[in-house]
Formats: sequence, C-alpha cells, structure tokens
Amino acid sequence: MRRFFYEPAQEAAGYILIKGAEAHHIRTVLRLRLGEKAELLDGVGGVVYSRIDQINSDSVSFRILSRRQEPENCRPLTLVMALLKGKKMDMIVQKATELGVHRFVPVITHYCEAQSRDSQMLPRWQRIMLEACKQCGRPWLMQINEPASLHQLNIPAESLKVMPWEKETACSFSTLNIETETRQPALLLIGPEGGFHSEEVEYARGCGFKTVSLGPRILRAETAALTATVLIQHCLGSLSYMSEF
Ligand code: SAM
Repeated sequence: MRRFFYEPAQEAAGYILIKGAEAHHIRTVLRLRLGEKAELLDGVGGVVYSRIDQINSDSVSFRILSRRQEPENCRPLTLVMALLKGKKMDMIVQKATELGVHRFVPVITHYCEAQSRDSQMLPRWQRIMLEACKQCGRPWLMQINEPASLHQLNIPAESLKVMPWEKETACSFSTLNIETETRQPALLLIGPEGGFHSEEVEYARGCGFKTVSLGPRILRAETAALTATVLIQHCLGSLSYMSEF
C-alpha cells in the first residue's frame, strides 16, 4: 500500500487534495492512476484509507473511504544521540523512526568532531524520517530537535534515563527492570565515536542517568544506538502488538 503525508488544511468534504512535490511524485514518478488506493497519514496518528479520484497537472485528489486514529505511545522513548561523522546519523534517524523512537535529539559533546555538523542535516533528517514513516506505516512523526549541547538538554525529572557506557561493568540492561520499574517516558543517551568525557559521565549521572553496559565489546556508536534502542523499546512494549499500555 502506498502512503503519503497530508496537512489537515488539505482536507475538505470527503476529499484530500495533495499538491506540490508529493503530487508530482504521485503523478510523474510513481505514475499512479485513477482508482488506485493509498493510505494518507496526517503525522499525528490519523490514517485515511483513500482512492485517487482526480489527477491534475499540479494536484492529486483522493476520496476518503475510511479513517482510523492510532493512539500515541504512552511510554515514549527519546534518543539523545551525540553527533557522528558522515552519513551515520542519517542511518540512525531512519532506523530510529522504524523502531518507534518518539523524539530524536542530536547533541554536541566534548569528543564530537567539527565535521559532524552540516547546515543541511536537519532538513535531510526530516526527509529521511518522513520516508521511513511512509515505508513502515508509522502515522506519528518522529520529532527531531535542533542539535544542542549536552548541558542545554531539557531532561524531565520524571523519566527513566539510560546511558550506555563502555566502562560500566556492574550494571547491564537486565538489571534496570525497565518493564516493571516505571511508566514514565524514557531517555537514552549515546556517545560519539570518541566516547564521553569523564566530566560528561558525571554530569549525566548527576542528572539521573544510569550508566549501563552493552557487553564486553566496544560497539561503534551507531551499533550501540540501535542495540540499546531495541532493548529499551522491547522492554517498553513498543515492539509488540500485545502492549498493555
Ligand atoms: N571511545 C571509546 C573507546 O574507544 O573506548 C568508545 C566509544 S563508543 C565507539 C561510542 C558510544 O557507544 C559510547 O559513548 C557508548 O555510549 C556506546 N557504547 C559502545 N560500546 C559500549 C558498551 N560495550 N557498553 C555500553 N555502551 C557502549
């Protein structure tokens, strides 16, 4: 099933009119025809099952056949990710979207390298996130923050805060008891290629982060991010249809 995003303002009297780049994509790239069905997502949980009713030079009109509203995850996970070099962040944005991460917060830490920052990264991540939502059928957009320094982070007091750290040997994910411990939102903090500065570890601990091990091998930052995301999402019930929340 093809999926497209729309804005509430594009809906009127049983129809949704898609314009601009998305309409061009539907008409010229995908070459969809009259009568073809698609799911239209509003980005805040709304899913509209629809059929193409009209194709114009600059717009495509979908007739609404049915709609449903998907509830928002009530144990949202925020992934706080130190900036990495090259395309690694793009890949993490895509996978975090697929894995149901609620908010993606890029952070600048002591050992982040200067070339990690480029002016186009935010619009590019938005595009990657939208495409991933369409591909995996996620009707809630992942929120993406502007990069900020670790010390500027807004850390909710009432939250589960987890920080994988390769020097932690005593505490692992299984000792956190995430399933039973809390119904609060969760924050996951992952360091850059160069790891965290010892002062950052102390600062994060002071903010309530629990340092945990991901095993005896030092993982690449992107491997650590995805591994820890899967572990937390599993415990929070976000990888299951059987979620009790
Ligand atoms: N510079 C560090 C070193 O060489 O010792 C390694 C940093 S690692 C590439 C990047 C990030 O991944 C770390 O800051 C941490 O958040 C996470 N990480 C990697 N391996 C880990 C492990 N075995 N346990 C917990 N966290 C790990």
